[in-house]
Amino acid sequence: MVLPESTARSERDGSSNYDVIVVGAGFAGLYMLHRLRDAGYRVKCFEAGSGPGGTWYWNRYPGSRCDIHSLGYSYAFSAELEQEWEWSEMYAAQPEIERYANHVADRFELRRDIQFNTRVVSGTYDEAGRAWTIKTDTAETASTRYLVMATGGYSIPAKPQIEGIGSFKGEAYFTNQWPLHEVDFTGKRVGIIGTGSSGTQTATAVAAEPIKHLYVFQRTANFIVPGWNAPATPEYTREFKAGYAKFRETARWSGNGTVFPQVSTLPKLTTGPIADLDADALKERLEQLWVTGGLYFFGGVSDLMTSEAANTRVSDFFRQKTRDRVRDPKLADLLTPRGFFIGERRIIADNGYLEIFNRDDVSLVDVKSDPITAVTPSGVKTRDGEYPLDILIFATGFDSGTGAMLNIDLKGRNGKRFADKWADGPLTYLGLMANDYPNMFMIAQPGSPSIRSQVLVSIEQHVDWIFDMLQHAREAGVVEIEASREAEEAWTKHVSDVAAKSLFARADTQYVGANIPGKPRVYLAYLGGVGVYRKTCDTVRENGYEGFILKAASKDLTKSKTWAGAGETPLVWGTAV
Ligand code: NAP
Repeated sequence: MVLPESTARSERDGSSNYDVIVVGAGFAGLYMLHRLRDAGYRVKCFEAGSGPGGTWYWNRYPGSRCDIHSLGYSYAFSAELEQEWEWSEMYAAQPEIERYANHVADRFELRRDIQFNTRVVSGTYDEAGRAWTIKTDTAETASTRYLVMATGGYSIPAKPQIEGIGSFKGEAYFTNQWPLHEVDFTGKRVGIIGTGSSGTQTATAVAAEPIKHLYVFQRTANFIVPGWNAPATPEYTREFKAGYAKFRETARWSGNGTVFPQVSTLPKLTTGPIADLDADALKERLEQLWVTGGLYFFGGVSDLMTSEAANTRVSDFFRQKTRDRVRDPKLADLLTPRGFFIGERRIIADNGYLEIFNRDDVSLVDVKSDPITAVTPSGVKTRDGEYPLDILIFATGFDSGTGAMLNIDLKGRNGKRFADKWADGPLTYLGLMANDYPNMFMIAQPGSPSIRSQVLVSIEQHVDWIFDMLQHAREAGVVEIEASREAEEAWTKHVSDVAAKSLFARADTQYVGANIPGKPRVYLAYLGGVGVYRKTCDTVRENGYEGFILKAASKDLTKSKTWAGAGETPLVWGTAV
């Protein structure tokens, strides 16, 4: 195999020069490393954790579980891997997903190029050398022509602004930085702050432990749909695997990448709009959504995001279902979401969460009406009460989307700080690159479907696209790739225009940065849908990488600095399953 010039050089002088450095060994980093190394690039991956898996490594809290069918929430790039890996449950729990990440790392012999327990803290672009130099928290330095940020959308914990937060004398944990050791809940008074996906899963699991009492501190009630987790039976698995090729292809061109499997052991999901259905047809469709469970609404109700009438019908139905599951009407009322549309905030797929509130040793503390005023050495203080605790769990979310990119001190052309570039919100071309930051790619970051998509679908599409681009660069002798300012401006406007068409950009959610004080309000993900987005990226490639500035050693190979545009982009995120 003919190695790229930089490879040959670094192998000669033994320096830490790479063709590509990949930051993060989550599902994005693992696949990027695999593809590039297979094609002979000299690649190094740095990972802060002690093992692979990224988000699925760090979020090892009790009850952590996937809420999309695991046979779908898995890599599609290897038919052998698809067939050989056996999921024990339809919706796998975190330990099994982490085992899968480890299996992938072993099967494709990725570990030898991953340096664990090492966090990349900075990256500086050298314009003369057309290369990046990164530094790590282990005081190492390495250089690379290309830098790929596989840093995830949910990597940096949000820091709740609660007085005295560090003063608690009992055991305190964040769900997204859960320790590797076992936590013993026996006979303990446990408090959980936060009722998103992480908090509700943790609460359900902790309630199953021999606790003394569980206090769930809820600020906003979310829409809860049943997860219907069950063992992955041999028939289900066999049928799913037999239909893999079609399933994967449907997901690639779908709305948000989440596709309900067409497997005979599962209920059937009908798709289409519901705003104009008559009462009987509506009831049938909504009950079908109930038995389907999970996060399949966006495929099942195609006008969910665009029609207030349709959304209200679904929202009201699920509000009633919540009330039906909780015996105490006062509690049921507190647990019923109001004031926003279903889907605006993350829908929660539960497996018995609401029912824990039918027990005497579990209490809901409504911190909307009685706000938390402080964490004290002995527990949590609200305006009207005090809750002594032995264990306090923060399930308070993430600096979503932008957090990880901004956590690394990146300097591009003329030493320009990336944090300054994104000070008013993310600016990208296709979510893949940013002007003034040549040779730096991003996987599933803001400006792409990212945190509002089935992220495995998004990751594979990005990795394949970046791989193609690097192969093109290699063949054409390109040494510098950069998003043009014009294309970046046009794309960023397009992302914002598409979001403005959706009901979902209105609410104060993590998706617009509203959970982090001072974060600019920008819709962080591209809502055109993964299929539309894929087509757009493919067209850009077919048009000779329009919008990208491509420089060979002494020649400018740029085809066009402008992006031709997406034409009229329908909001299809909620359809096409
Ligand atoms: P999240 O959805 O942002 O929820 C954070 C929770 O903490 C909210 O209930 C929030 O209340 C509450 N909170 C934050 N600060 C608070 C404070 N000072 N006082 C009281 N409550 C406070 O975070 P998450 O649950 O970790 O989920 C984040 C994302 O991770 C999800 O969108 C999902 O995509 C992903 N996730 C997926 C799975 C899965 O696939 N199974 C599991 C877990 C997470 P407010 O709502 O009032 O702000």
